[in-house]
Amino acid sequence: MGIRNKKTLTKTRRHTRDIDQIKADLLSPKHLAQHKNSHAAEDLPGLGKHYCVECAKWFDAEVNLIGHRKGKPHRRRVKALSVEAYSQKEAEAARGIGSLETTPASQQTKEVEMSS
Ligand SMILES: [Zn+2]
Repeated sequence: MGIRNKKTLTKTRRHTRDIDQIKADLLSPKHLAQHKNSHAAEDLPGLGKHYCVECAKWFDAEVNLIGHRKGKPHRRRVKALSVEAYSQKEAEAARGIGSLETTPASQQTKEVEMSS
């Protein structure tokens, strides 16, 4: 009887890892191993053998994992991971603070296209 609000309960139950955590998982295997080790294998579906790194989800069978990788939620997650995180530098550039010299060339060309 901890949380009385039903909406909060379902939201937190479904909550997996945050995008920035998954990005760190993809970059370093050590980070990922740390996350996996924080759960006991016998508590996980399929004894924690079938794991989708991008979605931070465990599956009970290999077939389900393969099926999941072809699905829309997985592709949506992969796309979200490919997008750069919104940074303080970006926020300042939008306000006109900070110098544009520090932004990469690819971003500069984008800004020119938008203004013309
Ligand atoms: Zn996935």
